[in-house]
Amino acid sequence: MLTDTHCHLDLDKFDADRLHVIQRAQRAGLTRILIPGLTVTSSQAAAKLASTHPMLFAAVGVHPNDAETWDGQTVSALVQLAATNDKVIAMGEVGLDYYWNKSSRETQIAILKEQLDMASELNFPVVLHIREKGDLDHGDCAEDLIKILEEWMNSLKSGKHSLMERPGVLHSYSGSLEIAQKAINLGFYIGVTGPITYKNAENRRQVIAALPLERLLIETDAPFLAPVPHRGDRN
Ligand SMILES: [Zn+2]
Repeated sequence: MLTDTHCHLDLDKFDADRLHVIQRAQRAGLTRILIPGLTVTSSQAAAKLASTHPMLFAAVGVHPNDAETWDGQTVSALVQLAATNDKVIAMGEVGLDYYWNKSSRETQIAILKEQLDMASELNFPVVLHIREKGDLDHGDCAEDLIKILEEWMNSLKSGKHSLMERPGVLHSYSGSLEIAQKAINLGFYIGVTGPITYKNAENRRQVIAALPLERLLIETDAPFLAPVPHRGDRN
């Protein structure tokens, strides 16, 4: 029984053959696909798509690269989606992106914290995006994220929240072993995507190989990140 925990099936790259893609996935052994949102609009699309097929589920949230779309209506729009569609089961993708820096670090952090609070309210695990300045494997982005997650986990612990057992996943992980182990110690899972097959990804392979198998999740991140020998194609 396979689950793809991260697939952008709502994107227009799938407009021509979406149902065929779902059917092929099913024939290949997939039983569940989680479609994460990037903005309120794409979260609405993900939720709507999820309700069309039993194997599809949606996460809702605002991506750090879309932080400028955050406004006074965002929280109520996301809560509304979660409340009215039982295929909406997670918060994401949310996080920090110091590579593109589309918004200030302060703004990204404020939006992340707000969405973590929403996740506690809704009892939703979180899908976390993280990307360092210069694509380093360890830097301010990881340090800031772990600090925020530690605070969040402490707040869950003090309320004996059931999310403590399943707080979420660090999606498409490319960071250091040290940060991965810190995240695992907090209760998080580590998401593994196609780049682990790239020729120059020896470091990434070593980090993943050193982690406990039961803490790894497989994700396509389709249509992005196709593995070798399909690198560059639609995933
Ligand atoms: Zn994604």
